[in-house]
Amino acid sequence: MSQSNILDEYLRIVASVRSYVEEQIELGFLSVPASEVSMGAATLVAAYESMEGIRATVESCQKCSLCQTRNNTVFGAGSEQAKLVFVGEAPGADEDRQGEPFVGRAGQKLTQIIEAMGLSREKVYIANVLKCRPPGNRNPLPEEIQACEPYLIAQLRLIKPKVICALGGFAAQTLLRTDQRISRLRGRFHTYQGIKLMPTYHPAFLLRNAKFKRDVWEDVQKVMVEYDREQS
Ligand code: URA
Ligand code: SF4
Repeated sequence: MSQSNILDEYLRIVASVRSYVEEQIELGFLSVPASEVSMGAATLVAAYESMEGIRATVESCQKCSLCQTRNNTVFGAGSEQAKLVFVGEAPGADEDRQGEPFVGRAGQKLTQIIEAMGLSREKVYIANVLKCRPPGNRNPLPEEIQACEPYLIAQLRLIKPKVICALGGFAAQTLLRTDQRISRLRGRFHTYQGIKLMPTYHPAFLLRNAKFKRDVWEDVQKVMVEYDREQS
C-alpha cells in the first residue's frame, strides 16, 4: 500500500470511529463526555488535514532520535497554493537555528535560482525530506526518512503542486526510491505521489561546482515549461 493510501485509510478510519463514537453517545450507550471524544478525534484529523495541524504535529514530533539534537524543527515555508514545490534533504545548522528551510548559503543560492525563474520564495513552497537536522549534517538514516516522509507527503497532499523540484541526489533518490546517481536522474521528469518531479543538483553542490549551473538552468527551464502549461 502506498503511503498516501495509508494516510487516506487513516483519515477514513478516524472519521468513521468518530461518527461511531458520536452515535453511541447520542444513543446513550457511551457516557464519555461528548466534547472530549469529538475533540480527540477532531484533533487527530486536524493533525493531517490542515497545514497548521501538520506543523503542530511536526513541532512536537519525537518519531526519531533527531528530536533529541534539534534546536528547531524546520517544517517548510511558502505558499500553500504553490504550483511548484522544492524539496531538499534536511535542515543544516542555519536552518536548525532559525526554524526556516534554506536560509544558509545554499539557501541564498536557491533563492537566486527561484528569482531567475521569475518567481519568489513566497510564491513557491520549500520543504525538506527531514524536518530535523542530522547532527554534523551527516546523511539521513533510512529509519529517519521512514519516520519523517509522511509529513512531506501530507504537505504535498494539501498543496497539490503541479511540479516538484528535488534538490540533490539525496532528495531525488529518497523520493524516487532509487539509488541511481543524480547525474543520471536529472534532466527529465519522474513521478512522485502522482506529481511530476524534476531532480536537479543541490544548490550547495553548485556553490562548490559552478560548472553545473548550466545543467540546473536547463532543468529549471523544463520545470518552468510545465509550470506555465499548468497555469493556463
Ligand atoms: N540543505 C537542504 O537540503 N535543506 C535545507 O533546508 C538547507 C540546506
Ligand atoms: Fe519527527 Fe521528522 Fe524530526 Fe524525526 S526528523 S523527530 S520524524 S520531525
